[in-house]
Amino acid sequence: MTTAVVVGSGPNGLAAATVLARAGVEVTVIEASDHLGGGARSNESPIAGLLQDHCAAVHPMAPGSAYFQSLDLEAMGVEWAYAPYDAAHPLDDGDAGLLSTSVGETAVGLGADGRRWASMFGPPSRAFGKLAPGIMAPMLRVPRHPLLLARFGLVAGPPPALVAKTLRTEKARALFMGVAAHAFQPLTLPLVTGIGAGIIAAGHAVGWPVIRGGTGHFTEASIAMLRGMGVRFETGQRITRLHELPRHDIVMLDVHPHIAAGILAEHQPRGPRRAYRRFKPGPAAFKVDLAVEGGIPWSNPEVAKAGTVHLGGTAKEIIAAEREVGAGRMPQRPFVLVGQQYVADPSRTSGNLVPVYAYAHVPYGYPGDATEQVIAQIERFAPGVCDRIVAVRSRSTAEAEAENPNFIGGDILTGAKSPTQFLLGPRITAQPYDTGVPGVYLCSAATPPGPGIHGMGGFNAANRALRLA
Ligand SMILES: Cc1cc2nc3c(=O)[nH]c(=O)nc-3n(C[C@H](O)[C@H](O)[C@H](O)COP(=O)(O)OP(=O)(O)OC[C@H]3O[C@@H](n4cnc5c(N)ncnc54)[C@H](O)[C@@H]3O)c2cc1C
Repeated sequence: MTTAVVVGSGPNGLAAATVLARAGVEVTVIEASDHLGGGARSNESPIAGLLQDHCAAVHPMAPGSAYFQSLDLEAMGVEWAYAPYDAAHPLDDGDAGLLSTSVGETAVGLGADGRRWASMFGPPSRAFGKLAPGIMAPMLRVPRHPLLLARFGLVAGPPPALVAKTLRTEKARALFMGVAAHAFQPLTLPLVTGIGAGIIAAGHAVGWPVIRGGTGHFTEASIAMLRGMGVRFETGQRITRLHELPRHDIVMLDVHPHIAAGILAEHQPRGPRRAYRRFKPGPAAFKVDLAVEGGIPWSNPEVAKAGTVHLGGTAKEIIAAEREVGAGRMPQRPFVLVGQQYVADPSRTSGNLVPVYAYAHVPYGYPGDATEQVIAQIERFAPGVCDRIVAVRSRSTAEAEAENPNFIGGDILTGAKSPTQFLLGPRITAQPYDTGVPGVYLCSAATPPGPGIHGMGGFNAANRALRLA
C-alpha cells in the first residue's frame, strides 16, 4: 500500500491528507504544535468566555474552491454564515463604503462610482465559476478560459493606486483600497491588485462567509472525517530532517519554503534549494482580540452590519501606511482589519458581550506592541468604544511565529505576495509543488494559489503526487 506523510496540519496539509486518503493512500499527519489546524483554528482559551478565531476568520475563496466543493459540508456539520454586508470601510466624515454580495446593491451605495464598480467586478463575479479554477491553479500552463483570465487581468494588472484613480468618490476609492491592502504589498506596484480583485469578485459571487461555530469547527470536522478514513495524527513533533519521518512513498510539506529547505537539506538539488532559501518574507500582522460590551458603537450604524471592517481612512492614507510597513517602519496609524464574525454567527456572543477580532499591518518582525494603535483606529471611527472594552488579548509577531513556524516574523501570508511569489510560488516552474526531491511536494500557502482557507495548495499538490506515484 502507498504511504504518505503530511508535515503540518494547516488547511493545506489537511486538504492534501484528504485527497490522498480518498485515493486509498495510508496517511500520517505530523504537526509541530500541540494543536492541529495551523491558521484554521478557533481559540482553545477564549477570552471572557467568547469564541475567537485564532487566525483565519472570513473565507471568500473557500466556497468556490474545488477542494471545498469536493467535501460534503452538510455531512460534516459545517455551515457558512453571512453578515448583511461582507465589508465596510468607514471614513472620518461618517460616510462608509459598503461591500455587499450583490454587485448591484454595492454599486447603488457607491453613487457616482456605481457603474464603474459594476463594470470592473460584475463580469468576473458572474463568471466566477469558470474563473475560479483558473486563478486557483498554477499559473504557468495553458488556461482553460484564456479570454476570461485575460479580461480579469485587465482589472487585476494595474497597481491599486492607478485603479483607484479611475474612481471619482473617496468612498469607492477607500473601499477598493481596503480590500487591495489584503495583499500586504506596496499599493503602487503592478499586479498587486490581483489578490483584492480576486476576493472582491469572489465576494460578489459567493459572499465573504464565516463558519458557524468558528473556523476551528471546520478543522475539527475535517480531522474527524480523516480519522474516519484511517488517517493518523501526531502532534508536538517538529520535523527538521527528512530521515525523521516514518516510512513513506509520498511526503507533503505544508511548511514555509525556508523550513522545507532545511528538511530537505542535502537531498534537494541546488537550484530549488537556493530558490527556497531566497524566498522573501512579507510584512506582518499584530493581532488583538477584544471582548466588547454591546458591540462597537460605529459612527455610521451600517458598519455594525458588516462581517469585516477596514480601518485606514482614505485610499491615500492606506497607500502611505502600507508603504511605511513595506519599508520596515511602523506607521502612526496602521491599516487595521476588524472582524465582527458574531454579526453572521450570533452563537459567538454571550449576552450583551461580543467578540471582536482585529489585526494591524505592521513591519516584518515588528518588535513592538501595536495594541494601542489598533484600539485608536477603532476609536477613531467609533468614539466611546474604549469604555466598552472588557478584555483585551494581543499577539505579537514573535508570538505568532512561536505558535506557527510558517508565520516567520509574523508574516501571516507565508511569504511576501509580490507578483512573482504570489503567482508562481517559491520558484519559476510550471510545477510549483515539486521540490526537486522525488516524491516530496510543497503544499503550503507559499505555493499557488497562495494564502487563505481554500485548501487548494494541498489539493493541487496531492493530485500532482497521485499522478506521479
Ligand atoms: C491573524 C491571521 C488572520 C488571518 N485571516 C484570514 C482570513 O480571514 N481568511 C483567510 O482565508 N486566511 C486568513 N489568514 C491566513 C490563513 O490562516 C493562512 O493562509 C492559512 O492558514 C495557510 O494554511 P497552510 O495550510 O498553508 O499553513 P498553516 O495554516 O500555516 O499551517 C501550517 C502548519 O504546519 C506546522 N508546521 C510548520 N513547520 C513544521 C515542521 N517543521 N514540522 C511539523 N509541523 C510544522 C505549523 O505548526 C502549522 O500548524 C489569516 C492568518 C492569520 C495569522
